[in-house]
Amino acid sequence: MKSTAEAVIIGAGIMGCATAHALAERGMTDIVVLERDQIARGSTADAAGGIRQQFSTETNIRLARESVRVWESFPERFGRDIGLRQQGYLFLLTNPAEEPVFRRNLALQQRFGVPSRWVTPEEIAALNPGVLLDDVYGGTFCPEDGWCDTYGATIGFAQAARALGVQIEEEAPVTDILVSGDRVAGVRTGRGEISAPLVIVAAGPWTRRVGALAGVDLPVDPYRRMSFITEPFAALPQSLPMTIDFASGLYFHPESHGFLFGMANREEPSSFDKTVDENWMVTTVEALAARAPAFEEASILRGWAGFYEITPDDNPLVGWTGGPDGLAVAAGFSGHGFMQGPAIGRCMAELILEGAPRDIDISPFRPSRFAEGDLAQEHNVI
Ligand SMILES: Cc1cc2nc3c(=O)[nH]c(=O)nc-3n(C[C@H](O)[C@H](O)[C@H](O)COP(=O)(O)OP(=O)(O)OC[C@H]3O[C@@H](n4cnc5c(N)ncnc54)[C@H](O)[C@@H]3O)c2cc1C
Repeated sequence: MKSTAEAVIIGAGIMGCATAHALAERGMTDIVVLERDQIARGSTADAAGGIRQQFSTETNIRLARESVRVWESFPERFGRDIGLRQQGYLFLLTNPAEEPVFRRNLALQQRFGVPSRWVTPEEIAALNPGVLLDDVYGGTFCPEDGWCDTYGATIGFAQAARALGVQIEEEAPVTDILVSGDRVAGVRTGRGEISAPLVIVAAGPWTRRVGALAGVDLPVDPYRRMSFITEPFAALPQSLPMTIDFASGLYFHPESHGFLFGMANREEPSSFDKTVDENWMVTTVEALAARAPAFEEASILRGWAGFYEITPDDNPLVGWTGGPDGLAVAAGFSGHGFMQGPAIGRCMAELILEGAPRDIDISPFRPSRFAEGDLAQEHNVI
């Protein structure tokens, strides 16, 4: 492992790998990415792979829009098939009080070119004939949204970064962040020290702990979320969109000839517990069968738990930490980080090399907003 570098990135999930690649593409290749486990084994490994543009703030919509263009061209740009399926995201709405909010969000999304639209119960039935609509008064749909393979996509960024000269070290946990005066000076790992004037924290749910190594409060906390996958199951077509019951957070989409589904237990406190909660699995299956009765006949192949990396306003920390000079962060994506990886990588690279991203205002995500009391709440969180 090198003992000096222009930059060290802590964490080789989607954010660390996309940021390393974007920096290297722009000429900064003397980078070491340090991963305590293996590439794409953190939150990124556990994601449902969903990619959507239906957000409620300009920054999230623009990040999502740009990222979709990258996911669409990934095989040509990165030489890797990531199994992208653009079958749309369909939100089902059961609480009429949500309608003005969703209509306002649609108008904002459409202003930035997102082809999302309001759908009536009749249109919902055509898009997903499997769902019961007794309590659904409408919804929103975007045909460009979809899902893909998160592991393959992250490996694609990692391989492209390595080809440009970036070193990615696995099983290399960062145990300390070195500070000299008011500047960051490098990191200590289980395998030695690396001096570097720039350190980027991309440690997903572990970001609060990593920030503490430099005495910085980065308010990102882990929350357990579970996903399940059915055995191959032909009662519903594989052409269905990602379908989300917005009120409960229940979602499902076709996957490997079966269906992937999940639902957040919003009452569960923050923890690093990664076991599957069988009681919550039962609650989720019941909610699924109540919304789409065909699932009564499905068998569960497996389930897993991972961590959402949640901040107080469900938006990430992107930029300089406000701690020692040269310490930046891209973390805390609150459950919608995988999909935004490509655009965040580009924004981080331009922030570092040019002072600011060229055309997306990421200032709403500045880490200092919590101390300033100027939060940037995202409404569409699943
Ligand atoms: C069940 C579930 C479903 C989800 N579904 C979606 C979805 O459909 N769409 C979507 O966009 N997002 C989804 N997400 C969220 C998504 O997974 C995350 O937002 C995203 O993967 C975060 O990426 P990251 O690179 O910031 O973090 P991570 O992938 O967690 O990467 C951080 C890395 O840092 C490493 N690290 C931590 N501490 C250290 C240290 N001290 N030294 C070295 N390395 C360290 C970790 O090992 C890890 O590999 C889901 C998450 C879960 C759990």
